[in-house]
Amino acid sequence: MPAKKNTARELLFGDLWEFDPAPESAPAHITARYGLFIGGKMVTPKSKKYFDSISPRDGKKLSEIPLANAADVDAAYQTASTAFKSWSELPGAERGKYLFRIARLLQDRSREFAVAETLDGGKPIIESRDFDLPMAAAHFFYHAGWADKLDYVAPGRRLAPLGVVGQVIPWNFPLLMLAWKIAPALATGNTVVLKPAETTSITALKFASILTDAGLPPGVVNIVTGAGETGAAVVNHPLAAKIAFTGSNEVGKIIHRSLAGTGKKLTLELGGKAANIVFDDAPLDQAVEGIVNGIFFNQGHVCCAGSRLLVQESIVKEILDRLKRRLATLRVGDPLDKNTDIGAINSKEQLTKIQQLVKSGIDEGAEIHQPACKLPLNGFYFPPTLFSSVSQSHRIAQEEIFGPVLSILTFRTPDEAIEKANNTPFGLSAGVWTDKGSKILMMASRLKAGVIWANTYNKFDPSSPFGGYKQSGFGREGGKHGLLEYVLMK
Ligand code: NAP
Ligand code: MG
Repeated sequence: MPAKKNTARELLFGDLWEFDPAPESAPAHITARYGLFIGGKMVTPKSKKYFDSISPRDGKKLSEIPLANAADVDAAYQTASTAFKSWSELPGAERGKYLFRIARLLQDRSREFAVAETLDGGKPIIESRDFDLPMAAAHFFYHAGWADKLDYVAPGRRLAPLGVVGQVIPWNFPLLMLAWKIAPALATGNTVVLKPAETTSITALKFASILTDAGLPPGVVNIVTGAGETGAAVVNHPLAAKIAFTGSNEVGKIIHRSLAGTGKKLTLELGGKAANIVFDDAPLDQAVEGIVNGIFFNQGHVCCAGSRLLVQESIVKEILDRLKRRLATLRVGDPLDKNTDIGAINSKEQLTKIQQLVKSGIDEGAEIHQPACKLPLNGFYFPPTLFSSVSQSHRIAQEEIFGPVLSILTFRTPDEAIEKANNTPFGLSAGVWTDKGSKILMMASRLKAGVIWANTYNKFDPSSPFGGYKQSGFGREGGKHGLLEYVLMK
């Protein structure tokens, strides 16, 4: 009889910890074919074209999504422009009521939306259920509260809405990014044309039914789906008063160039390559959990992921050993299973990108560590991966991988940690782990990053502004700072 092959987890813990499958069974209510949400109705695209939305969980088709062309985008802007007059003149307290309704309806249907988000994007159901949905609702609640208090945002000044805002979002937090964009725009009296990402349009189109149920006046929010060309039509439409974009640096640069001289307001939330810095006086158990959360949350498809771990040299072996042990306990597989920690990679293209960058890490001489884990045969999956002996010049230390891959570098002194952490074109986020409050403050004042977490990682709140430095973009989302991006101050 051939010897039984043990996974790393079985070698460490025996068979005791193998869980039975626990699939989430709530229906996602996904329609076979969607329309565009324009003027308060689901309409057939003028383009007459559709594309398939597939689930990265198993590669199967979920639905047909309209491919909006320039005429569709124009129809969305025209209705948004008409709706602007009455929407912007509504008293803030009235606008706030709609936002409260949207938040409550999202809460009512959160299980259904969580399943849809997981099926469409591949993230573990525990994350869509416990993070994406509650946070999306929280953004609407938070901004509902601002709608009638805009006079207090900047005392002595009057805030006026901009007009129609065009918003383009990525695939890593589809519904949450929609909430980050739509909630402040509506609270401040703007109307919206939003384009979700091609691979994750379903929750945005389902969200249209929430807007209808909330009784939102027609044309206040319009959702147009499609790929890059549709995004470009949203960005370049002459009726757009402002563009809010979240996505890659490449597309961010194209948008920045195309808007130059147009007078349109612009906010760009782009990529990151965050340093998560661990000093030798840090609480190591917590730090290991923070490192794991920092890079493996949402399969590492996180703009602020702690993808570069900077460890003080004296503890690097200890940290690496602990991380290897912890990785062996992560469950990779079916995102609909409630025990799954790491789900599916969002698309085949993203999987190929991760594989190529991991290969470059091996070719350039870094040492790779992956736990033995059985990946599902269908769908797109990648095991949690650590790289040690990484130098700063390696591609895996410089480029955003946007996958479950951690590059480990070392430092000896705080000065060296800061120099290495800031040695990147990005500046979105960073983490600092140490027992000393003074060291945290010293590091925070010298790190070039928009968000810095101390002895924790990936913590978000609608009242806390989020955004980057350098090539991570400009403008903030969330909090008072985020509101100001959607108004003119008079
Ligand atoms: P992406 O390729 O730039 O796409 C973002 C959005 O732009 C998608 O809706 C995309 O449509 C659309 N688009 C593509 N080409 C366009 C063009 N020429 N004009 C206008 N729109 C266009 O980025 P992604 O791969 O979806 O997302 C990953 C990136 O987003 C990462 O770099 C990540 O760091 C960043 N991100 C940043 C934040 C932040 O807050 N800073 C948050 C989340 C993600 P299609 O999808 O249909 O191509
Ligand atoms: Mg999909």
